[in-house]
Amino acid sequence: MQLAQRMAQLGTETAFDVLARAEALRAQGKDIISLGIGQPDFPTPPHIVEAAIKALKDGHHGYTPANGIVPLREAVAADVLKYRGVEINPDNVVIMPGGKPTMFFSILMFGEPGAEIMYPNPGFPIYESVIRFSGATPVPIELHEASGFSFSADEVLGRITDKTRLIIVNSPANPTGGIVKEEELDKFVKGLEAFPHVVVLSDEIYSRMLYDGHCHKSLLAYPALRDRLIVLDGWSKTYAMTGWRLGWSLWPDALAPHAAKLAVNDHSCVNAATQWAGIAALTGPQDAVDAMVRAFDERRQLIVGRLNALPGVSCVTPLGAFYAFPNITGTGRSAAELQNAMLNEAGVATVAGTSFGALGEGYVRFSYAASTAQIDEAMTRIAKIL
Ligand code: PLP
Repeated sequence: MQLAQRMAQLGTETAFDVLARAEALRAQGKDIISLGIGQPDFPTPPHIVEAAIKALKDGHHGYTPANGIVPLREAVAADVLKYRGVEINPDNVVIMPGGKPTMFFSILMFGEPGAEIMYPNPGFPIYESVIRFSGATPVPIELHEASGFSFSADEVLGRITDKTRLIIVNSPANPTGGIVKEEELDKFVKGLEAFPHVVVLSDEIYSRMLYDGHCHKSLLAYPALRDRLIVLDGWSKTYAMTGWRLGWSLWPDALAPHAAKLAVNDHSCVNAATQWAGIAALTGPQDAVDAMVRAFDERRQLIVGRLNALPGVSCVTPLGAFYAFPNITGTGRSAAELQNAMLNEAGVATVAGTSFGALGEGYVRFSYAASTAQIDEAMTRIAKIL
């Protein structure tokens, strides 16, 4: 057997390994609190589930167009107008099986040996993994605790070369919970005028999960960027639909046909009933989303307070998503050591910051998509081992 060389370049998302280890420990009878994997602990709202059941009963059993059914793409356009205040053409929307395929396809479209792609570090691990897989050179955009894990536009612009093809922006961010400051976005977009060859992928999957009065500033709000902006969003986080595999992407005219072609080659179309459920999610009542975000906010305040009370740990307050990313250097342990100790000795699953890039050393990601009682108990157990 001779694998293609690029297979050696493909990384992974360690959160799934942690999930498997936590499940194995649970199977041995251990009581494990899961603050590892990034998914809401709420069920999908019932009216969305009902819409999928109805779709199946109504006979939506066949292939759909590769870019998604028209009413769903129209519902996405209406949602973008409602929450981002921007008019888009449903023809530029491609429905995807989750958020990940949008990043995979965007990176494959632009990545090849000799090309450079910039990505946040620490950041969602799949960016760097797929950039390496494509043969392109990953160029990290360094995110630092001191600036609330926002990026510096000057720093990003200063690292663009004639080989830079794609820049990935993620706000609100995984794993830090940081958001990119509006003035940095303004400066970034203005500065990009000097680099018309560069495309931007804006991963806005946590756009509805913001706290302390912050509102989502989408890169779609910048008309100057529209003809070279790809937007990634989806249902996984907002509607607690991680297992359904449903996402949407928005592509400029020049790229939409390529995205649809990649979809045909890869998965033909997204599961038909799931697409109808997606319409119900976008057009139906939003109170379940609001209630979930309120619950996350309460948990955020609890976990940040408890983390800051741990010896050797300090945590900036995350402004979005559902992750806390405390600095653990004062514990004297590496991120991986602490992750393992918390899992094996305290029965608390978390993810070492190094799973999100080299700049994640000294940090551990806690997903606070767990009940306040579980968070409370987890912090008590960790306090004991520290
Ligand atoms: N983008 C970011 C920043 C994420 O954190 C995730 C999931 O954790 C995704 C994209 C992928 O979402 P999906 O599960 O819909 O593929």
